[in-house]
Amino acid sequence: MKEVVFVIIAVILAASFVIFRVLPSKGYGYLSRLTCTKCSHIFDYRWIPGGSASFTVIRLGKKRYMRCPSCHKWSMFDVWSTRVS
Ligand SMILES: [Zn+2]
Repeated sequence: MKEVVFVIIAVILAASFVIFRVLPSKGYGYLSRLTCTKCSHIFDYRWIPGGSASFTVIRLGKKRYMRCPSCHKWSMFDVWSTRVS
């Protein structure tokens, strides 16, 4: 019986690895090239349509209100028109 339990655990671990690691790296969702209006820093931001807001990103339609990774100032980014994928 111990072998069966081990196989089940291994399958669960493999499935969760695929869902949480492989799918985002395969380009799941959209990639936008955003430019900070405060410091002109350009950075890539990956987002999923209909994805829930996190503590650091506020959804406003096709725009996101979030902090720049460079200067850490809050500003509005149009993620829809800046899509690169
Ligand atoms: Zn900035």
